[in-house]
Amino acid sequence: MATSFDLTGKTAIVTGANTGLGQAIAVALAQAGADVALVGRSSMAETQTAVEAAGNRAVSIQADLSTLEPIDRIIEETLAWSGQADILVNNAGIIRRADALDFTEADWDAVMDVNLKTVFFLSQAFARHLVATTRSGKIINIASLLSFQGGIRIPSYTASKSGLAGLTRLLACEWAAKGINVNAIAPGYFSTNNTDALRADPDRNVAILNRIPAGHWGQPEELGGAAVFLASPASDYVHGIVLPVDGGWLAR
Ligand code: NAP
Repeated sequence: MATSFDLTGKTAIVTGANTGLGQAIAVALAQAGADVALVGRSSMAETQTAVEAAGNRAVSIQADLSTLEPIDRIIEETLAWSGQADILVNNAGIIRRADALDFTEADWDAVMDVNLKTVFFLSQAFARHLVATTRSGKIINIASLLSFQGGIRIPSYTASKSGLAGLTRLLACEWAAKGINVNAIAPGYFSTNNTDALRADPDRNVAILNRIPAGHWGQPEELGGAAVFLASPASDYVHGIVLPVDGGWLAR
């Protein structure tokens, strides 16, 4: 049914699944019925337990996504474990903060590599698998409000997330006819490691809170519904969108 949100029988790959938004997305997909391959460089034990508590299977795949080395292995290990791979969530991402006048090449490259380069080549490997097999699948990129706005003191992050919005649209245009939905979610200000520095700065914390119509920082679980929607048959005719889940920030 085109309106089904059920992911029973599907296998999802979620990068950066050990904590924060990736962990919440992995658990939400499991609660909707999916088995989940948890990809990251830290222990995924906590997320694995939560996925299994939701009644589904999980496997941990160790991978440092700052290089392309693990790309093929992530697909191969998922297929060896599950026999299929239907959903890819490109969630892993990093941020580096400094004034644009002082920003270093190292901080530029590190962010662009994880947030954009690896996302493209992992999506390519996943899509090659789908094109050769089921010709059906879902890719969900985790973008940002910095896909729409400039921000301050995060030049490589803004470039990477703005680039990711464009990449989402390009891949949707190329792959929609091949049965692959490519979309993105733009989280607003969520309470995770990524935003620790903002919440620790009393002035920034209040300024951000005052602009969020919902009146609170997003909690990771509040992203789950959008991820399930974009992973499920309910979104089969949705291609190339960047869906804000931001407590109303962009409406302000
Ligand atoms: P987070 O808690 O810092 O999580 C980032 C995740 O990416 C972690 O699992 C981290 O693993 C992983 N990661 C980073 N570099 C990696 C690498 N080289 N190899 C493998 N994994 C790597 O922050 P988060 O908020 O959940 O971020 C998740 C995504 O949401 C990111 O793409 C972020 O840009 C995006 N986002 C967040 C917000 C927000 O308000 N929190 C808003 C918009 C967008 P480790 O724990 O091992 O470092």
